[in-house]
Amino acid sequence: MAGKDKYNAIIIGAGLGGLAAAAFLAKAGLKTVIFEKTPYIGGRCRSCWFGNSKFGKYPFDVGPIFSGTNLIKLLKERLGEEPAFKITPVKILIFSKGKYLTTIPPGRHILKDLRQMGASFSEAIYSSYKLWRQRRLESYSHMDSHNDIAHFLTKNQLMRNILNMRAGLFHGCLPDDMPGYTFNNKDYGKPFYPIGGMQKIPDTLVSIIKKHGGQIHTAIPVSQILMEDGKAVGVLAEGECIKSDFVISGISVAQTVLELCKGARFTFAFLDQVRSFKQGLQASMVFMIIDRKKIDIPQGNLLYISLPPLDLNETMHQLFNGIYPDDPPFGLFVTEGIPQQRFETATLIFYAPKGEVKRDRIVREGEQLVKKTNLFIPGFRDSILWQKTVTSLDYPAQIGFRSSVLPVAESKTYRKLPFPLPIKNLFNVGSSVLPSGGGTVQAVKSGLECGEFILISIKKEGYYGF
Ligand SMILES: Cc1cc2nc3c(=O)[nH]c(=O)nc-3n(C[C@H](O)[C@H](O)[C@H](O)COP(=O)(O)OP(=O)(O)OC[C@H]3O[C@@H](n4cnc5c(N)ncnc54)[C@H](O)[C@@H]3O)c2cc1C
Repeated sequence: MAGKDKYNAIIIGAGLGGLAAAAFLAKAGLKTVIFEKTPYIGGRCRSCWFGNSKFGKYPFDVGPIFSGTNLIKLLKERLGEEPAFKITPVKILIFSKGKYLTTIPPGRHILKDLRQMGASFSEAIYSSYKLWRQRRLESYSHMDSHNDIAHFLTKNQLMRNILNMRAGLFHGCLPDDMPGYTFNNKDYGKPFYPIGGMQKIPDTLVSIIKKHGGQIHTAIPVSQILMEDGKAVGVLAEGECIKSDFVISGISVAQTVLELCKGARFTFAFLDQVRSFKQGLQASMVFMIIDRKKIDIPQGNLLYISLPPLDLNETMHQLFNGIYPDDPPFGLFVTEGIPQQRFETATLIFYAPKGEVKRDRIVREGEQLVKKTNLFIPGFRDSILWQKTVTSLDYPAQIGFRSSVLPVAESKTYRKLPFPLPIKNLFNVGSSVLPSGGGTVQAVKSGLECGEFILISIKKEGYYGF
């Protein structure tokens, strides 16, 4: 395994946060190693190859379906690396009851869109001004929740649904209970998709780590973080003690603190905060191989979003209360395709109500929603050549993780946690330290920033340990 060597940094988990921290530290010359529990790299950001002998096999994204251009900026600026993949833009088109509403982010056309969505002229002017100001100020952090902000910005229900979409559909959370600061999305940039699938992002980070002598060991779970004199000094993996100057955990902060920090002392307030982090709704997917020539849609990667005509916030409450809503929100992602491959892929993403234990019922729900796609892409169902449903209940066994987009969901009292944990030389990276809508970009950002923080501290202090 890792041998008896001492490392400068041990990273737990090869998700985007852990990989980014490892890439930064390996590049800076630190002796770095990652231990990953599963045989896979990338954590939730992973593509799996599905299909059959007749139509071929294609990469399907079992976690994120798109990332933001700021991730590329981060790779260039903080790691000095060009990504080893080509990015293609993702256009997001929003529908409600089959009627086309708008593309996001809402731009110059907000006013026109609001009028089309039934707002009066004065309301449309007033709301567009507020929406435009929101884009410039980029934050209404002082307000309580996503839903409060959406109500403040416009009286138009459909536009409110679009504003609440990020908390509701993208994150599987209640817009009512997402903290106000999560409304700020300036860190993300424009949505993009790597040609060849999302797996290309972790693969790029792996090649940087390896280029700089970092090690990655898969199928090795860490069972404990070792402490001496209140300081993290290494990990226990497969019964072996492996020592390091720093330990960086890339798994959820709750797991790190409650499961791996055995015997460590934390304040009650900190433990309460960590215990309050709960799982959001879990996504289910219908993966499809389609013949794009059979449908008339624009070029490029397209994310079609179907929003309920009624209040999305209330619909999300139904899902959290275990009820199947009449008109649930869902997404259909159609990829541009891979050059030289005959067909394209499409993925339908939806949420089963919290607590659902009947797999057949979730599969049926997915099939109902596939039927609804014809409302916004005429003839879509006839273009499907092959399909496979992976429900949220199948995820742990078939894919290897629970399909919650965010590890947090149910309280607006969530506050961002910094990556240094209240134990010396122990850090937590990845989207779970950032309840602020931690997606791919934020996971990578937290890893790089943690690496930078460690390096600056080493240079400043001249020794390891704070
Ligand atoms: C269905 C779905 C859709 C999503 N859609 C989007 C999207 O479109 N855009 C977007 O930006 N984000 C999206 N996300 C969120 C995005 O996937 C995550 O924010 C990001 O990939 C999380 O990275 P992470 O570093 O926090 O950790 P994770 O990906 O959770 O990685 C943690 C790693 O640690 C490993 N591990 C766990 N325990 C141990 C242990 N004891 N020892 C060793 N290793 C361990 C795990 O196996 C895993 O590999 C989506 C997520 C899901 C599930």
